[in-house]
Amino acid sequence: MENKDLVCPICGEPTNVYYGNARKDRLCYKHGMMANKKEIILNENGIYSK
Ligand SMILES: [Zn+2]
Repeated sequence: MENKDLVCPICGEPTNVYYGNARKDRLCYKHGMMANKKEIILNENGIYSK
């Protein structure tokens, strides 16, 4: 998988990639952690909010 175009939809930082696999939601590390903790939620429109 190419890493280009893989940027966080919230802040535009590079998508968090571990072991060669990018997050399907394209979140960066910081926002990925927030999503894991349910601090932000992805709705049907692809918008995250608290
Ligand atoms: Zn982000």
